[in-house]
Amino acid sequence: MKYALITGGSRGIGKAVGIEISKMGYPVIINYCSNKQAANETCEIIKSQGGEAEALQFDVSNVEEVDNAIMKWQESHPDDYIAVLVNNAGVREDTMLMWMKNEQWENIIGIHLNGFFYVTRRIIKDMLVNKYGRVVNIVSLSGIKGLPGQTNYSAAKAGIIGATKALAQEVGRKGVTVNAVAPGFIATDMTKELDEKTLKELIPLRRFGKPEEVAYVAAFLASDKAAYITGEVISINGGLYT
Ligand code: NAP
Repeated sequence: MKYALITGGSRGIGKAVGIEISKMGYPVIINYCSNKQAANETCEIIKSQGGEAEALQFDVSNVEEVDNAIMKWQESHPDDYIAVLVNNAGVREDTMLMWMKNEQWENIIGIHLNGFFYVTRRIIKDMLVNKYGRVVNIVSLSGIKGLPGQTNYSAAKAGIIGATKALAQEVGRKGVTVNAVAPGFIATDMTKELDEKTLKELIPLRRFGKPEEVAYVAAFLASDKAAYITGEVISINGGLYT
């Protein structure tokens, strides 16, 4: 059976993506880092809607945790494979570059860019063997345009965009597509401290986006209908960039 793995699926955008992809018929693996309760709640929502879901803890920035968790999952599912991977887990630690501590740089690069690498490396082989796979990376407007106070985050997301384009060319002939979705401001825990009232004046659509609005696009890219789209970055930002 084909499964879908959503990193950081316990809350926010990842939660909405998990719910949407489960509606496509995939049993969904909801990864989380520390918030077990939120992960279980997401699984319960999916099950209450007739889907299948299981929570799986690992810190995407910790290579041993990633390897162990995925290896164990694969060993306990010898007849299954993860055909859809959504690399979504993330945090932000914003500050001006001149005040940025080593840990703030390393933590953000570690979770976003290293996390993408550690998880995707373990999952992609089965996709290639089975000649079918979908990788969707949740990046950011910050990685396209750059945002002041986010040099760590912009660098990490821009790095994933480069990796998306390179990997798409590596694996395309085996029926595996690799794309990225770049949200602007989306209403989640990550943005709850921002001054929405002021910021929304900068957005042509005059509001923050909803996690579901990102999930619809991620689910489309994860579907058969998106079979001829690869190496792309699709923006969802209410017109902010333009
Ligand atoms: P959120 O509501 O804060 O949720 C973050 C999710 O990531 C949680 O499920 C969290 O798990 C998980 N996570 C954090 N660090 C992790 C780690 N080291 N290992 C595994 N899981 C980890 O954030 P969000 O707004 O949904 O953001 C999701 C993605 O969208 C991120 O990549 C973010 O950069 C990107 N994005 C967000 C926005 C926005 O405006 N919200 C805009 C552009 C891009 P726990 O519940 O266990 O903590």
